[in-house]
Amino acid sequence: MIESLNPQQRAAVTLEPRHALVLAGAGSGKTRVLTTRMAWLIQTGQVTPYGLMAVTFTNKAAREMLTRVAAILPIDTRGLWVGTFHGLCNRMLRAHHRDAGLPQTFQILDSADQLSAIKRLLKGAGIDDDKYPPRDVQRFINNAKESGLRPAQVEVWDNFSRKQVEIYELYEAQCQREGVVDFAELLLRAYELLSRNAPIREHYQRRFRHILVDEFQDTNALQYKWLTLLAGGGAALFAVGDDDQSIYAFRGANVGNMADFERDYAQGNVIRLEQNYRSYGHILDAANALIEHNDGRMGKNLWTDQGAGEPVRIMEQPSDLLEAQWVLDEIRSLVADGCPRHEIAILYRSNAQSRVIEHQLFTAGIPYRVYGGLRFFERQEIKHALAYMRLLANPGDDTAWLRVVNFPARGIGARTLESQADAARTHGVSLADAVPFVAGRGGSSLAQFATLIAQMREDTRRLSLPELVDHVIAASGLRAFYQGEREGAERLENLSELINAAAAFAGESGYEGLPAGELPPSAPFAPLDAPALATDEVAGAADVNVMTPLSAFLSHASLEAGDNQAQAGQDAVQMMTVHAAKGLEFKAVFVTGLEEGLFPHENSLLEQSGLEEERRLMYVAMTRARERLYLSLAQSRMLHGQTRYAMRSRFLEEVPEEHVKWLTPRVRESRSWDGGAASSGWNAPRDAFGRPDSGTTSPRGGRVGGASVTVGDQQFRIGQGVRHARFGEGTIIGLSGQGQDAQAQIQFQDVGAKTLALGIAKLDVV
Ligand code: ATP
Ligand code: MG
Repeated sequence: MIESLNPQQRAAVTLEPRHALVLAGAGSGKTRVLTTRMAWLIQTGQVTPYGLMAVTFTNKAAREMLTRVAAILPIDTRGLWVGTFHGLCNRMLRAHHRDAGLPQTFQILDSADQLSAIKRLLKGAGIDDDKYPPRDVQRFINNAKESGLRPAQVEVWDNFSRKQVEIYELYEAQCQREGVVDFAELLLRAYELLSRNAPIREHYQRRFRHILVDEFQDTNALQYKWLTLLAGGGAALFAVGDDDQSIYAFRGANVGNMADFERDYAQGNVIRLEQNYRSYGHILDAANALIEHNDGRMGKNLWTDQGAGEPVRIMEQPSDLLEAQWVLDEIRSLVADGCPRHEIAILYRSNAQSRVIEHQLFTAGIPYRVYGGLRFFERQEIKHALAYMRLLANPGDDTAWLRVVNFPARGIGARTLESQADAARTHGVSLADAVPFVAGRGGSSLAQFATLIAQMREDTRRLSLPELVDHVIAASGLRAFYQGEREGAERLENLSELINAAAAFAGESGYEGLPAGELPPSAPFAPLDAPALATDEVAGAADVNVMTPLSAFLSHASLEAGDNQAQAGQDAVQMMTVHAAKGLEFKAVFVTGLEEGLFPHENSLLEQSGLEEERRLMYVAMTRARERLYLSLAQSRMLHGQTRYAMRSRFLEEVPEEHVKWLTPRVRESRSWDGGAASSGWNAPRDAFGRPDSGTTSPRGGRVGGASVTVGDQQFRIGQGVRHARFGEGTIIGLSGQGQDAQAQIQFQDVGAKTLALGIAKLDVV
């Protein structure tokens, strides 16, 4: 098991049980060390599967981890506490729902559900949503929760923040009433459960002897507190991470946790791994050189003995369409050379970029799978079906009720729903329970719907999970509805896919053939040392089967990135954002859209820290590649309905020449990003072949007109120097829109990057 490891890795795997931090760069075997340690601890009898917990960042990574452990050890991995923070907290809350103050059947709100719950709340409470935009409210609430704060603890400094806190309070009450829990709440509740309830806390503290955490650099403050609390009973906390791959600061991740952890727990137990086993030399050196542009790194050396391999290939195309076309051509030749499709990844900074590439792949008939983005479980028809299922599990789920009470149409109008909502408020009950209070025709339509749900619940009680899904799709009228729709074929296919997903889930989780609505009779996994530890009453019985198959599936749907575009098992090209690619590796990787404003993202350009986070993201992207890395960009791109023109990403300039090969002749652009952009010395935009661009014909038919826009009688070009009365001198680094809608992104010498409307801002060309 440990023979193939290098001495540092072996030391980490076999470290005696105490807190430790493995700090190492990409591809150095951190995840491998972590999984091997799990297997090693079990095999050497230092811990049973029951006494071990491992946390990772994505469901894909958790699955991967279980597969790796199962490959080393022939144990049933189903009952292992291995998962994401959200997944594990969900499990804990199910087991102790009463102590956590939740109904057993509580449902999880994903972020879109949360937003609609907030909108509904603002409307019901008569709060002006111009003044309190739902998205801002959502962010406020989530930030507070992620900092571990309940409304009473949030600091209030003016009327505005007082109101926000008030909304937070109302929101909490609404969720509680409806028996729903958002993502941030999962963590906060689980933390509160442990911190307030001594018997439960002590149980888990005694139980978990080893807690292992992957991607530790991206834990937030609350997760860190949760971990250290759990480890408080003498467990060994084994954390692995890479500060250069911290890419979730925008969501509250705190890379400082690494330094804190070292200081407070793991002093003297920091292990560094320096050999990279993933990438060939050119790729690794290019990534190392890039990340060196960041300040304040913990610092590490990465080397490989794999040889230099191929240089990093860079391609510049006139448009996003041509970029996608080129990616497609390259994929064809990779596949022709024997590269499996799942070993090819296309990465992008923003989800919106995927559409063009998806379209190309789709038209060419190349199977692909998109991770993240509009995920399978977020599609309209799937959410409808899930809403019915949620009502079966929990009639009090108002969000689900409102989603489907009139879908397919049952003649239930807005006025009826308003009186229902009023009644629910007056009596302090759920919408379902408020039905009897609604009078008239509307009331009887509502009663009919309630009967439909009750009937469905009755009819599905003994059905297995996939049978239940099938029944719901039919009895709800969804199937008939989409059959009657012109564009319904794909939605029907997705609904069938939902049945498959349920079947697959039931199989994987040991629920096969069991009634979906009932708690399974016994755990599919018998905790090995349960007798020894289950002396305390608290959690001994509640290990795995704390959820009915239906509840478990619904949790899975809320937490899981559904990856079902390509048929299961089909060899498919992998598409995802760079964020979603963390921890993964592929033989060939395309990083697309390397344009200023896109990658690095324009929102990041205002602050140094933002730019550094983008650079870490680029580092993550590049280090996913084992053998071949492509970087590409387009001079013009359709995004959010507008054509944008942008300059080459500065990240391309940060990769040393000796590691790259430009597939298009490279035009040197002289520029300086820090301080004043050189207003002289810019080259005029070039076409794909490096010729001065006099206006290319856009593949969509229109003229792109080079990277310039005309506003009134003024023409603006990328790379042009401009002067603004207030902001001073700067350089245009991005352009979008035309005429009066045109906007320019300008890197000012003194005030940093700004986006200005060219029709309004007064700019002089210098
Ligand atoms: P990241 O920072 O991207 O998450 P990581 O440090 O977790 O990377 P792993 O994914 O564990 O790295 O390992 C990278 C690759 O190197 C994997 O394919 C792994 O199997 C391989 N590898 C790790 N250690 C060794 C070793 N000692 N011998 C051979 N291959 C190894
Ligand atoms: Mg890893």
